[in-house]
Amino acid sequence: MGDTAREPQHIVRMGRPQPGVAPAATPPLYQTAAFDVADIDQLEQINGQGGGYIYTRDNNPNHDSLAASIAMLEGADAGAVFASGMGALAAICLSLARAGDHVLMSGSLYGKTQVLGQRLQQLGIAVDHFDVTSPAELQGKIQGATQLVLVETVANPLLEVADISGLAAAAGKVPLIVDSTFTTSELIRPLEHGAAVVMHSASKYLNGHGDVLLGAVAGPAELVGRFRETASVFGQNANPFECWLVQRGLRTLPLRMQQICRTTRQLAEYLQGHEEISRVWYPLLADHPSRAIAEVLYPNGTGGILTVLLRGDEEHASARVSRFMQCAAGIPFSPTLADTRTTVSHPARTSHRFLSAARRQESGITDGMVRISVGLEPAEMLIKELDQALRESAPG
Ligand SMILES: *Cc1c(COP(=O)(O)O)cnc(C)c1O
Repeated sequence: MGDTAREPQHIVRMGRPQPGVAPAATPPLYQTAAFDVADIDQLEQINGQGGGYIYTRDNNPNHDSLAASIAMLEGADAGAVFASGMGALAAICLSLARAGDHVLMSGSLYGKTQVLGQRLQQLGIAVDHFDVTSPAELQGKIQGATQLVLVETVANPLLEVADISGLAAAAGKVPLIVDSTFTTSELIRPLEHGAAVVMHSASKYLNGHGDVLLGAVAGPAELVGRFRETASVFGQNANPFECWLVQRGLRTLPLRMQQICRTTRQLAEYLQGHEEISRVWYPLLADHPSRAIAEVLYPNGTGGILTVLLRGDEEHASARVSRFMQCAAGIPFSPTLADTRTTVSHPARTSHRFLSAARRQESGITDGMVRISVGLEPAEMLIKELDQALRESAPG
């Protein structure tokens, strides 16, 4: 093509960052696999002190700025980001435990995290479970070989609330890892309650828009550095664009969490009195087993999740749930949570489908349960839609 003005600049070299461009109002996206290095001396310096960028699998400015934001929100020395929440959890476990070691996990963890526990066992790491509401049970199960204790702030889908300081005391010198995905730093900062490390599926509230997969951790620099090295080796590194999106989502986190907490509480109170609902699980309701600790730790709400049991016998429960979901046309059935939209899910068939029927029953998950992830719609709108769907799908 006869464009002589372009000749010295081959097409593969075009589109380089221009020096001295106007300062952007939002952080730039470093969508690059690698970084140019000035010379061997600079390379040596980056490798020696870790201050600089070579390859995005190890490090990228979009990783660093988001990790720093999350560390700040959690009151931590250091933060790191990973390809997903599961990537973060895997990096933590693979960094802290090896064959012959012992790991303790709450019995009510996110379904895929329980599968991670099974995988650790295949690697020769013993995994034991305990009731997250019982620091005494945890204390009794700590062994010399125990390398970590893993809990969630508020568990899915029955919303048991972890007494973080009680569990941290029970864990003693063993690091307590707290998955704060459901609550975020807006509602609790687990490190202030004695947790060693806090972890998030940033795919959920931190991003908040249902369009990203990302994981994050915050904690002491030494531990976080080990997680990052593991993630680099196992390829659990975050994508720069996903980091950029989560950084953008974080700016509205306080507003979103406030509204979501308010609406969720309203819905819980409304649904508790609904004739088509047999039971509501929401920690701030009088009949929830975690009410007392929830009132201390989460006076303003435990986030956007509540679970309901639809009226009807257990034998026809799945069909009832299906009818309800079809009738609630404006509220999509989506096996995730923390979107801008309210979504419903069926724990028995989604988050807990990886478990055996016996383990599910042990965990108290039944077929008639529907988990609601409350979004940003007005409460009155949701109440109207839910009421209509509950009536239309009622068993005859
Ligand atoms: C979604 C979720 C995870 C896993 O995160 P991904 O980003 O989906 O990999 C872990 N823990 C909890 C509590 C979650 O809700």
